[in-house]
Amino acid sequence: MNPYPLTSFEKALDLVLQHTPRLDAERVVFHEALGRVLAEDVHATESLPPFQASAMDGFAVTADDPTEWREVVGNQWAGPAAALAVSPGQAIRITTGAPLPPGAEAVVPVEYAEETGGQVRFDWAVKPGDNVRPVGEDIAAGQLVLPAGVVIGPAEIGLLASMNRLHVPVYRRPVVAVLSTGNEIVEPGAPIVPGQICDSNRYTIMASVTQAGGIPLSLGIVPDEEAALRRAFDYSLAQADVLVSSGGVSMGERDLSRVLIEEWGTVHFGQVKQKPGRPTVFATVDRPEFHLRRLIFGLPGFPVASLLSFENLVRPALRHMAGHTRLFRPTVKARLTHPIRRKATRIEFQRARLEQRDGEWHATVTGLQTSGRLLSLAGANTLLRLPIGAKHLKTGEVVTAIRIDQPEQ
Ligand code: AMP
Ligand code: MG
Repeated sequence: MNPYPLTSFEKALDLVLQHTPRLDAERVVFHEALGRVLAEDVHATESLPPFQASAMDGFAVTADDPTEWREVVGNQWAGPAAALAVSPGQAIRITTGAPLPPGAEAVVPVEYAEETGGQVRFDWAVKPGDNVRPVGEDIAAGQLVLPAGVVIGPAEIGLLASMNRLHVPVYRRPVVAVLSTGNEIVEPGAPIVPGQICDSNRYTIMASVTQAGGIPLSLGIVPDEEAALRRAFDYSLAQADVLVSSGGVSMGERDLSRVLIEEWGTVHFGQVKQKPGRPTVFATVDRPEFHLRRLIFGLPGFPVASLLSFENLVRPALRHMAGHTRLFRPTVKARLTHPIRRKATRIEFQRARLEQRDGEWHATVTGLQTSGRLLSLAGANTLLRLPIGAKHLKTGEVVTAIRIDQPEQ
């Protein structure tokens, strides 16, 4: 018998988030911060533009000047300010982005100018400020530009660059040690004898860690032997923020992971009332002397079960660690294209394909839903969250569909 009470899925998720710490911040070069979460407010140290700049190619002039033909006294190209000033009766050739010369109050576009023999006249009624970008038009010095908690995207990277911010504080990405357990598990590519199977879990989980914004650390395949498992656990707790193992958490003779997790950490749940993925263990290990908290997730061995437990329980934790506040994927209401009959004693996540037709979402389950059949996940873009008690679902019935092809929002 599994010694742990069956924890509801909602309670399990609650326990995970309650015990998951936010990681500390690190400084990274701004253009390497894509997808990271800003840990502190970023204020502008300078105004943008930092100087009065021309918004057009043309002529910089004073505003209140009745002279018809003005003398062109020089050029101010975009770049360092030339030692030039403009007075009434004069004009300076200027390009877009160039600093406005002293004395200038407006820029007349070149299209409205007639230039001949060092003189220029305009078909333009000059007003102060014409085609001039004032200091701080985009950003004022001291302004809060990016608040803590913002997820850095291309526009944020551009803003950091324009503000000359070389480094930014962002939350660390969780390092996640991933290991597979089982005497029957072998590395893909190795020769296989009857009774052995290739390790798929470590690869699906490492890929999922990367997708969730974490850094996977492969700890390989560990046989069902106490000493080997102990070494692997020890190493991962030293090297990683999170340990995700798969296999060895049910009630088999050699299911040692569960026993070791109990010995190392505080178990918060050991069985979840979900299908698939019932034997899922979550524990924390605290090392107060190092101000450290490690998370351990013992996932089931069955490939679909381990991947779905990762998606529903581990992924939100990794995102919280990395500073995200949006932890869940969007859901939509979808109509079933066929009936579903089930036992309905646990919350169930069925893999399905979601399609939009006539302004409505329609969901079709991807074949046999056994917890070992990875093929049911390949090509699935949604998980149908089917509640306890709903035994017979009819064609056209509306269910909740989690969009696993969409980021959290
Ligand atoms: P266990 O939870 O260790 O009893 O494993 C349950 C089932 O999942 C068994 O059929 C295992 O062979 C299979 N399994 C366990 N680990 C893996 C893995 N890393 N990759 C693929 N299948 C696995
Ligand atoms: Mg096993």
